[in-house]
Amino acid sequence: MISIRNLKKCFGDNVVLKDISLEISKGSVVAMIGPSGSGKSTLLRCINLLTIPDAGTVNVGGQSIAFDGKHTKLPKAKDLAHFRSKTGMVFQHFNLFPHMTVRQNVMEGMVTVLKIPKQDARITADALLQRVGLSDRADAYPGMLSGGQKQRVAIARALAMKPDVMLFDEATSALDPELVGEVLSVIRSLAADGMTMILVTHEIAFAREVADQVIFMRDGVVVECGPPSVVIDNPEKEATRSFLSRFK
Ligand code: ATP
Ligand code: MG
Repeated sequence: MISIRNLKKCFGDNVVLKDISLEISKGSVVAMIGPSGSGKSTLLRCINLLTIPDAGTVNVGGQSIAFDGKHTKLPKAKDLAHFRSKTGMVFQHFNLFPHMTVRQNVMEGMVTVLKIPKQDARITADALLQRVGLSDRADAYPGMLSGGQKQRVAIARALAMKPDVMLFDEATSALDPELVGEVLSVIRSLAADGMTMILVTHEIAFAREVADQVIFMRDGVVVECGPPSVVIDNPEKEATRSFLSRFK
């Protein structure tokens, strides 16, 4: 489903991703952990080309784009938009449209990007809001919602684009502790439905529970990658052990 080969990204002199290669199969859930600044967000953003890699190949759902330093001709805006539509991204801050209702937020991309007729988009939006447990808030504005509710709207909005893959960048980090559970339970139900997902998270217990693979990143490299029973419970590398000891 996702294949990344020899991905590199620098910001000026700062080499943020150093030759990353990853394979993520359809229906699998990957948790990405690692210290601040290790390149987790940059890697997620390179997967949906919100950030353009310097070098390497990104393949999502069979569509591949290669980057070759300065020689890369950037994809046309239309191809880029098509590529991005294969991934739904959920951020730490929900980025909902404040002047639109919850339902309108979920409908917006379907109507403007996918050109789905409004009546059909509304039906899909209501089904997705039911799925994230927010049927009763469809007519509310984001300002009236709790953080957990806003994040569930953001998830419904991303799902509305029918992505092959969902990318979550610390989707629960900005939430009050008592609101984390409701968002994790939506992510858990997506995993049970077979959605391919990459979760950048500091919720180590949740990563252990939901992930098929855990990736530990440090200084722009994948230090260790494997099932949670190894990477979290019995890591092979000292760097992984040392990082995880902070959570005990
Ligand atoms: P955190 O856990 O704090 O979110 P992270 O692992 O997601 O960290 P990134 O946000 O990917 O780390 O950042 C990796 C490095 O790249 C950092 O040194 C950061 O300062 C740098 N960086 C990220 N985005 C940019 C940017 N747009 N311009 C310049 N430098 C950037
Ligand atoms: Mg980050």
